[in-house]
Amino acid sequence: MPPQPEAPQALVIGAGPAGLMAAEELAKAGVQTLVVEAKPTVARKFLMAGKSGLNVTKDEAEESFVSRYDTPHLRPILADFGPQDVQDWCRSLGQDLYTGSSGRVFPVAMKASPLLRAWVQRLTAQGVEIRTRWRWTGVDGSALTFDTPSGPQTLTPKVTILALGGASWSRLGSDGAWVSWLRDKGVQITDWRPANMGFRVDWSSHMTPVFGQPVKGTALLAGNHRERGEFVISAKGVEGGGIYSIYKYLRDAYTLTLDLLPDLDEDEITRRLAKMKPGESTTNRLRKLGLDRTQIALVMEFSRTEPFARLKHLPIPLQGPNPLDEAISVAGGVAWEAVTPDLELKALPNTFVAGEMLDWEAPTGGYLLTACWATGRWAGQAAVRRLQQASPPRT
Ligand SMILES: Cc1cc2nc3c(=O)[nH]c(=O)nc-3n(C[C@H](O)[C@H](O)[C@H](O)COP(=O)(O)OP(=O)(O)OC[C@H]3O[C@@H](n4cnc5c(N)ncnc54)[C@H](O)[C@@H]3O)c2cc1C
Repeated sequence: MPPQPEAPQALVIGAGPAGLMAAEELAKAGVQTLVVEAKPTVARKFLMAGKSGLNVTKDEAEESFVSRYDTPHLRPILADFGPQDVQDWCRSLGQDLYTGSSGRVFPVAMKASPLLRAWVQRLTAQGVEIRTRWRWTGVDGSALTFDTPSGPQTLTPKVTILALGGASWSRLGSDGAWVSWLRDKGVQITDWRPANMGFRVDWSSHMTPVFGQPVKGTALLAGNHRERGEFVISAKGVEGGGIYSIYKYLRDAYTLTLDLLPDLDEDEITRRLAKMKPGESTTNRLRKLGLDRTQIALVMEFSRTEPFARLKHLPIPLQGPNPLDEAISVAGGVAWEAVTPDLELKALPNTFVAGEMLDWEAPTGGYLLTACWATGRWAGQAAVRRLQQASPPRT
């Protein structure tokens, strides 16, 4: 007789921020919870996020905070677990936090590893079992199928949370392979698009010395949108926070314009230039106006013949976005029409979805992790309610 599939009460597939948060909610309610993860270790993208300073949330008023997401569906979820809740939760894991001048909130340690270590310890103490190298491969009848170190396995949980991430940085685990399995079951999936991504620029060799350098103190313009921000010149093009703050407007019309002197108006620039010595070199003049080496390189790259004419509107011709796999996050994934307000898949009852695999997007700045944690918590709580409905407490 073939072995009977294991039947945990609750199964979470994907051990990123969303999946682990769902597991925490289930375990807090006393539900026997198994987390399976394809990679040899948990939360690899979360750890990567910590490499450049883990921005856990943004400390701002609720209305302003939720307005940065592209969908109203997240509103009730973020109202239930917003920036203040994220901070309290991080502190409950022993993480001291600080808020930067822009309102971005970071652990004092800056990294993700101390938070993750404390979190996994707490989950384990709550009874959550985590199995790594367990890769979900699809659905066979009522069973979920997995490739595991001991060969193919099946599980038939009472409730399942899918928290498989988006479709970028696939080497860290979120490869989007699940799309076809869910589509086959009738789940509507919106095509992926890169979000918070860099853009390609065909630099001349003149720019090589400034590859890797930040461009600071600049305003970035895309259409009617203007943001103050910093970005980085890479060998491939432009990337970093300032670019991510306007990526949506650059994604469809690749026109980036820089205001290199956002604190000076045209008249003031003209007045200052007129006061400079007649024989002064162009580079010296630009420097005296306040531009640094990288900004001067940009002026010489795109406005060499008229170096002073476009200081407040220097066009940077973009060739297109970097590939999806290089994006910090993605838009697309499980469509909102495919889920109930509880984040349960209409086509697969008792299966809930959380995190970046849902179709939403937001800029960097802590918005991404906050929504992953909030949806993980929301889906976990809904799964708990479903289990309670299925087996009401004895009186
Ligand atoms: C370089 C970088 C920096 C970032 N910095 C920040 C930041 O500072 N602040 C911020 O808010 N956000 C940041 N983000 C974004 C943030 O890390 C993600 O939004 C978040 O990790 C998504 O969480 P998730 O749980 O939905 O998915 P993921 O973290 O992608 O986790 C999904 C998990 O599912 C597993 N999985 C996938 N398929 C299977 C399968 N078939 N079977 C079993 N397991 C599977 C994956 O291995 C993975 O562990 C950053 C991202 C990157 C790439």
